[in-house]
Amino acid sequence: MSSVQLYDTTLRDGAQKEGVSFSVVDKLNIAQKLDELGIHFIEGGWPGSNPKDIEFFDKAKSLTLAHSTLVAFGSTRRPKAKAETDANLLALTSAGVKVATIVGKSSELQVTQVLETTLEENLSMIADSIGYLKAKGLTVFFDAEHFFDGFKINPDYALRCLITAAEAEASCLVLCDTNGGTLPNEITVAIKAAKKLTSVPLGIHAHNDSESAVANTLAAVNAGATQVQGTINGYGERCGNANLCSVIPNLKLKMGIDCVTDEQLAKLTEVSHYVSEAANLAPDPFLPYVGASAFSHKGGLHVAGVTKWADSYQHADPAQVGNRQRAVVSELSGKHNIIYKAKELGIDLPSQGKEAQKLLEQIKRLESRGFQYENAEASFELLLHRAKPDYQAPFELVDFMVIVETRRRQPTRKSLEETLAEAMIKVRVGTEVIHTAAEGNGPVNALDQALRKALLQFYPSLAAVKLVDYKVRILEESIGTESQVRVLIESSDGVEEWTTVGSSPNLIEASWLALADGLEYWLLKQKTSNSLAKS
Ligand SMILES: [Zn+2]
Repeated sequence: MSSVQLYDTTLRDGAQKEGVSFSVVDKLNIAQKLDELGIHFIEGGWPGSNPKDIEFFDKAKSLTLAHSTLVAFGSTRRPKAKAETDANLLALTSAGVKVATIVGKSSELQVTQVLETTLEENLSMIADSIGYLKAKGLTVFFDAEHFFDGFKINPDYALRCLITAAEAEASCLVLCDTNGGTLPNEITVAIKAAKKLTSVPLGIHAHNDSESAVANTLAAVNAGATQVQGTINGYGERCGNANLCSVIPNLKLKMGIDCVTDEQLAKLTEVSHYVSEAANLAPDPFLPYVGASAFSHKGGLHVAGVTKWADSYQHADPAQVGNRQRAVVSELSGKHNIIYKAKELGIDLPSQGKEAQKLLEQIKRLESRGFQYENAEASFELLLHRAKPDYQAPFELVDFMVIVETRRRQPTRKSLEETLAEAMIKVRVGTEVIHTAAEGNGPVNALDQALRKALLQFYPSLAAVKLVDYKVRILEESIGTESQVRVLIESSDGVEEWTTVGSSPNLIEASWLALADGLEYWLLKQKTSNSLAKS
């Protein structure tokens, strides 16, 4: 199969996703990551549209990219104007890049209704703009905006726009499904029609509004397109762009197109997570190939299957895309999930022994009381350790009391009242019972403070542990009149994050259990790494 070039537009189209804003530094770092992934072209931004992108291209000059070529984006000149004086085209020539992509209209209705000019003038705009950039020594890709919609209304005109760009010596004609509503069979027909008329390489730029962006991209490649545009994690305006994290492995693993090396493909999951961090969005666990759940197994039958034969319930080898297989422990799981999960955590449970069965029963009991271990692997790991006869907890909770009160502030202050909480706790460490009290801005904060106060004298390193996320869910499905509350707490020591769970009819108690698990887990990890270091 012929080769395909990957064109990433995370830094331009991807940044159009609602809620995403990349800083210049983010963009530079992402470009470096895309280079490691083996992306051929990185579209850095639109220098003619904003100063941030001008700054990006300026700073990008000092990037050393091993595989990627940086591309600047712009549009065709304005109607009835000159290319030589068009600010947006000028910005492309001073961006310091060798390749520019310019978008132009290729749909009759877009020309008459939106651009409000004649069909002929639009063709001149395409020809002049490409000609100008070519004369300045740039390689030019032409993005034919709304091509597939235009092809439906007036195929002759849509194709004429392509021919015009080809005659102006564009190096690639990128057919855009700008509104994202085209389906794969329609893509195939249009690409084939374009391919008949020109020998210039064709590209595909698909949006995901009909959830067909990846399928459309693959259909375009099958029909002869050789450049695929998309974004990491499918970020983009509205429903997003074609997700390169799915397109790349599909091309390489399913269609046998060597668009990246094996080593580059193995970085896919890392790059996906890196970009979501930079976008300040939680990585989507349900993304194909790169999501944390993409290769996780919850059904007991499935886990029993993959234990015997890894590929029995997976379509690809997760290691090829840098992901991993994972068993999910829940009340739906069988003994195999527990054994598999324990092995993942480095704890050997004999498959014939009673331990796994006992643990499974315990998990089912706890889940019926509102605990859930699917997302609280640290609490699950503690369960495994606590099941060992020789396990010694670093501390034990004896009891706690929390008082919440509203105090009247000084009359000069605008807000008259403030809420204060005070927690008193009893904790056993070894043979000692410690009694402490602490204040906080709320009951959970007060408990956290009191627990730390008690433990820090024994474990000063605990000061490194911070609570980073706190989630509460009221469980409707619980029996009886009182609803059960589940608390998930994410803690971090600045290097790693871990999640623990607590559940109770009482919010404070649920929080207390999750808090204590969070600290116990970290102390346990410290102990293991210390003893490993000593041995
Ligand atoms: Zn787009």
